Amino acid sequence: MPDPAKPASTNRSVGLVRVAIDAPLDKYFDYLPATASSGPGDYPPGLRVLVPFGARKVVGIVVGRAEASDVPRDKLKAIQHSLGEHPVIGEQELALARRLASYYHYPRGAALFCLLPNALRKPVAAIAHSERHWQATVHALGVADDALRRAPKQQALLKLLIQDPAAHYSDSALRERELPAQIALQLEKKGLARRLEVEAAPANCNSIIQGQRSTAQLAHNDQQARAIEQIEGMLGKFEVQLLEGVTGSGKTEVYLAAIDLAIARSEQAMVLVPEIGLTPQTIQRFASRFDCKIAIFHSGLSDRERLAAWLAAARGEVDIIIGTRSAVFTRCARLGLVIVDEEHDQSYKQQDSLHYNARDVAVMRGQALGVPVVLGSATASLESVLNAQRGRYHYALLERRATGAMPPQISFIDIRKQVLHEGLSDAAITAIADTLAAKRQAMIFINRRGFAPLLLCHDCGWSANCADCDARLTLHRSAGELRCHHCDRRSPIPSSCPRCQSTQVLQLGQGTERLFDALQGLFSGTQVLRIDSDAVRGKKALAEHINLINRGEPLLLVGTQMLAKGHDFKALDTVVILDVDQGLYNPDFRAAVKTLQLLEQVAGRAGRDSNNGQVLIQTHLPDHPLLQQWQAAGYLGVRDALLDERRERGLPPFTHMALLRADSRKPGTALAFLRTIQRQLAREQRMYGDTANAVCAEPGAAFMERRAGRHRAQMLMQANERSALHRLLHSARAQLEGNKLPGGLRLSIDVDPQEST
Ligand code: ADP
Ligand code: ZN
Ligand code: ZN
Repeated sequence: MPDPAKPASTNRSVGLVRVAIDAPLDKYFDYLPATASSGPGDYPPGLRVLVPFGARKVVGIVVGRAEASDVPRDKLKAIQHSLGEHPVIGEQELALARRLASYYHYPRGAALFCLLPNALRKPVAAIAHSERHWQATVHALGVADDALRRAPKQQALLKLLIQDPAAHYSDSALRERELPAQIALQLEKKGLARRLEVEAAPANCNSIIQGQRSTAQLAHNDQQARAIEQIEGMLGKFEVQLLEGVTGSGKTEVYLAAIDLAIARSEQAMVLVPEIGLTPQTIQRFASRFDCKIAIFHSGLSDRERLAAWLAAARGEVDIIIGTRSAVFTRCARLGLVIVDEEHDQSYKQQDSLHYNARDVAVMRGQALGVPVVLGSATASLESVLNAQRGRYHYALLERRATGAMPPQISFIDIRKQVLHEGLSDAAITAIADTLAAKRQAMIFINRRGFAPLLLCHDCGWSANCADCDARLTLHRSAGELRCHHCDRRSPIPSSCPRCQSTQVLQLGQGTERLFDALQGLFSGTQVLRIDSDAVRGKKALAEHINLINRGEPLLLVGTQMLAKGHDFKALDTVVILDVDQGLYNPDFRAAVKTLQLLEQVAGRAGRDSNNGQVLIQTHLPDHPLLQQWQAAGYLGVRDALLDERRERGLPPFTHMALLRADSRKPGTALAFLRTIQRQLAREQRMYGDTANAVCAEPGAAFMERRAGRHRAQMLMQANERSALHRLLHSARAQLEGNKLPGGLRLSIDVDPQEST
């Protein structure tokens, strides 16, 4: 390790190194080179360095040079030392980070660190898997031939090492020559051998797999062929295709064919999938189609595994990169195609720190690199649909199920005034029984975990609420506790009412757990599977359940979101959906789209390989115009009406939004602070006459005002043009910097928010 740096003498003109640091300040920091003999040229952009920062030593990334600095020269500190010899990221990534910082109004250093895998944010070498190697020391080259006569093994090793002084041997290579590591350690003690840490291919790594072609490409139908041809014409350029196709229409087959085309050009393909879409089954589908290496990124990997996959992609050692949200940042040596599956999915949006949407970042990357981007979905986002309608994106449509199966039959069960059995109507129970009798599978979808969402005292009206949130606690019976689904607070189940001591405490409403219990009674003799994040923990458990379902025996499934998307269950005929009404009453203007997307996705699980698919929807609102329209024409037929409504109401994607959020433990602080900011902004806007293009709404409390003990407020900014929104955000940031923040206040900016209640 080099000596701790001494600042260069001040009377010599030495260039400075500009460094990005993971800090909340939107600026870079200037440092002197590590020693007087090194210059800024020793620090190429993208190199990791260890630098003093306040009282700490932190990792920095070199972003360039500086001749002069705002900081007086005698106050400048020197770089401690480099972390590794080569830059870990290139100009492309540096440019992407700058774009992210300006688009999402996020501190530029912190934005750059978002592009790095966790392991590279720590001050250790960029080596995923290292091996100990041995090499001759200079001293060893001078020893006499007959040295070590009495230790023949040591002598043999010494001979081997000095034969080629540049060569080095791993422990296992020595073992093969019957020279155990012990011998090398003895030579090291005598100063005759030195150890090196050398990067090695991981022997067994979950994040890099070798694909093996074992399934053939299907004969594409006309619409698939047209979509593939369109992508073929896009290769080598930045163009975007919106691939809209009903569930089961063969979008994945289109992706696979497109990847084939990219690989034939010696390019890499990146595939982004939603959080719960990355099952072993999905990976298997890709691995069984290509004889190439695949890097996989998901939340279950260790930092090391993640780094190994990242480095492999950066060096071009893998041809395919598959991953969830943050995989979009993977450095790639020769990226030629980006695919975003289910591009509308909420899990692409990061809800804290850098509030990016991976779909939008994918498009930014495609643009910067000049490579095509394919956005696929059965329920495309209104943003992408509008882009296609305006001619900015190519458009391809897959209208029918690829297997030739008929679309499922959709009907509503009007549950007004009906007696329900554990939340289920007679009609639903009969349909499930018929399906099971026909030796097929049925599924009940309910978007609520736990046993009962409400614990209520029949005598005094007390209900179990979270002490830290404006929310009710959910009863989880088998776990024997009450849980808050917003802050995860847990508490024991009271045996009597804490307010009036009555024992008449009612457990109201249905969650998956309760339904599961009830179904076992109602359909005794049938296997019932519950699939939610409480019952199925981890990717492995989910994979086991999916395998069981795929065996095709009659089964009854009950579950949440986890069941809703992507799966291709061939024996599933009947889907029952409970509780859609909530989504239709939600005050957020995005709720209708989200509800219809979910309905379409869940319904899309039914009858994928048969002509007996049926979807039954229990509702109090069977005449709701959106439900009616969706029943008649599906999501494809209703999205234009939703888009029209957005146009009429002046909402995104026709306008652009950002949210400034603030929260504090002290009530009122966040709201008062946002009011101050808003007044200052309004004054400034009046001065510059920008009010026609961008407005800043009166700040208000968040829909759930208190969450996890923090009082939350927000201010909505909206503009006709994106540039006007950015101007407004710039002013807002200037105000934020100019005001003293109240102690304990947390602030965040969310550009293109997915939720605004
Ligand atoms: P999506 O991704 O749109 O949900 P998939 O690509 O998973 O659709 O295809 C759904 C089903 O249709 C799969 O079982 C797949 O094997 C089958 N399939 C896809 N394309 C074809 C085709 N051209 N011919 C026959 N079957 C196909
Ligand atoms: Zn009571
Ligand atoms: Zn809570």
